[in-house]
Amino acid sequence: MIENLTFNVAQLLKEPIGAVRAGQVAADVRRLAPELAQADSTVELAMTGPMRLTHTDGGVLVQGALTSQAVLPCSRCLEPVALTLEIELEEVFAQTVDVLTGQAITPEEDDRALWIDDRHLLDLGEVLRQNALVAAPMHPLCRPDCRGLCVICGQNLNEETCTCEAEPDARWAILAKLLQNNES
Ligand SMILES: [Zn+2]
Ligand SMILES: [Zn+2]
Repeated sequence: MIENLTFNVAQLLKEPIGAVRAGQVAADVRRLAPELAQADSTVELAMTGPMRLTHTDGGVLVQGALTSQAVLPCSRCLEPVALTLEIELEEVFAQTVDVLTGQAITPEEDDRALWIDDRHLLDLGEVLRQNALVAAPMHPLCRPDCRGLCVICGQNLNEETCTCEAEPDARWAILAKLLQNNES
């Protein structure tokens, strides 16, 4: 995959405010956000999609609608789950150098991930990483009715049942005793 995460915006910043460029983003998820590629496989996981750069007062507005492949462990059985994430991107990157005069500008933006560097390169890497992590589900499931792992022996209960006796819950034990007394 040819990665495309860095954009030279020098020319765009020389144009009037409101000038637009369209582009394509392409990233290798394994490299960009290894947290979203949790499987021992070398299959490529891609994050791709269109984006738009708009010259704003003091920077560049980046808007994109990306799709990302991801592999996360099932939150119940830990088997890998393949997912497709939708990532909506909308961030303003700030200039740190005036493109016409070469003079340094101190941006109001504190987050350096949102700074255009002194060579007028806009790097989407960190912002995309953060947005992708937010787009990932907190509790992914391999299937809606995943039975998970036995808490005693660790058997994957989707594959096979085990013979472990579930520990009786203390509250149910009291109830069971009451019922027994009633019956006798
Ligand atoms: Zn599962
Ligand atoms: Zn078991």
